[in-house]
Amino acid sequence: MSAYDGRASYASWAIRFAASLEGILCVLSGMSNVAQMKDNLSYMRDFQPLTAEERAVLRESQQILGASPAIPCTSCQYCTKGCPKHINIPGIFAAMNSRLLDGAIDQASLAYTEATAEGGRATDCIACGQCERACPQHIPIIEQLRRCAATLEG
Ligand code: SF4
Ligand code: SF4
Repeated sequence: MSAYDGRASYASWAIRFAASLEGILCVLSGMSNVAQMKDNLSYMRDFQPLTAEERAVLRESQQILGASPAIPCTSCQYCTKGCPKHINIPGIFAAMNSRLLDGAIDQASLAYTEATAEGGRATDCIACGQCERACPQHIPIIEQLRRCAATLEG
């Protein structure tokens, strides 16, 4: 996507995709700061639906992402609030992703140590399932934590 249009943010692709669907009147965007709000306004004030060429770029990106070994965690933190074991799930997944994507063994190990410094290691998971019900990405968190434990605690 950035090779096609280096000025367009990733969020702009997602929001314009949703707003381009037939019958959609409103798109909710989770913004965290003023810069993100300005970015949203820059393409929604004078909205242009995705062109056929842009839709093709999105499909290609979807295929590339689908083939990625990374855990598709967005660090939204929705899963962490109710975890009875106070496990920093997105922090652990970020550590695992640096191993999966970059093969950075030492860096992943350090990131895992930092993510679990205040307790809540991957092996502490009791498989209660609270986090999986909260995850908007439908990540099989329990299974992924077992994988992280085997890789990063071994
Ligand atoms: S399944 Fe594991 S990680 Fe998820 S909320 Fe329960 S204890 Fe925490
Ligand atoms: S809810 Fe899902 S996407 Fe969000 S931080 Fe947790 S694992 Fe990642």
